[in-house]
Amino acid sequence: MKPGQIGLVVRGHGRHYVVEDDNGERVHCLTRGKKSDCVVGDRVRWQRTSDHEGVIDKLEPRRNLLFRQDEWKTKSFAANLDRLLVLVAAEPQFSESQLTRALIAADTAGITTDILLNKTDLPQAEAARQRLAPYKAMGQRVLELSLKGRPDEARDTLMPLLENQATLVLGPSGTGKSTLINLLVPNAGAQVGEISQALNSGRHTTTTTQWYWLDDRRETALLDSPGFQEFGLRQIPAPELASHMADFKPYLGDCRFHNCSHRHEPGCAVLVAVEAGKISPSRYRIYDELWQELSSPPRY
Ligand code: GDP
Ligand code: ZN
Repeated sequence: MKPGQIGLVVRGHGRHYVVEDDNGERVHCLTRGKKSDCVVGDRVRWQRTSDHEGVIDKLEPRRNLLFRQDEWKTKSFAANLDRLLVLVAAEPQFSESQLTRALIAADTAGITTDILLNKTDLPQAEAARQRLAPYKAMGQRVLELSLKGRPDEARDTLMPLLENQATLVLGPSGTGKSTLINLLVPNAGAQVGEISQALNSGRHTTTTTQWYWLDDRRETALLDSPGFQEFGLRQIPAPELASHMADFKPYLGDCRFHNCSHRHEPGCAVLVAVEAGKISPSRYRIYDELWQELSSPPRY
């Protein structure tokens, strides 16, 4: 067997993948057998079987893997990412639970997160800023933007952050994600078209993760997972959850019991910090709900 070449998975749909080679050529590849365990961002060893077709032989080791929660199903959807942008807006009001899930998922994967507060031109921005105060206080970077009002400034802020990395953008509907993609991605529509074409025919691809190149050298990438609401966190054992919450970390060593769940134990330093107003009540509530979610058996 010829040794395969290494390629990058830029689209996946069932057993069908689009793999990009070093020259940027995109080839429709199938996996061997019934396996479909590659995701966008994976590096794979593959071989050409005809001009525009190939087969994936092997998945290369991953740096990280991210999961999305679709109703009750947890599904991996992207790998080898460097950064996460969580877009929230002055309006509609953002969900702190979705935001917290994103920060936990990124922390588990060893990925840097930036929160982008968009629509700062609106009067509701002040309320959003206040809801973000606990996140800033725990050391989370929050960038303020007006993608529509001051697009050049937004672009100048974001481009240096993204350079030479693969970044996933998470933005609930209405926050300005399309505006962001159109601002940063040259010919976004054409890029979607080219990748869909490589996958061939009119395959249904509206919820698959889209890979966009921001530069000609193909070193800076933006990933968009349409319809993405929530990260799946099932892979995290409940006892580890608190260690992925930056505002809980300073207290974790001070609980009386080393295996404290921080929910009802006497001598729990986290509960004391909540009482003293050092941990925000909404963050604590989200922790409590997540703990129950992660310690209950899966529903499938
Ligand atoms: P998506 O649903 O997240 O893809 O959001 P869109 O990019 O379609 O934006 C949703 C709405 O917010 C549109 O009407 C945009 O014009 C508007 N919008 C986007 N950015 C801004 C901004 O900075 N300020 C204001 N006021 N509106 C914005
Ligand atoms: Zn505790």
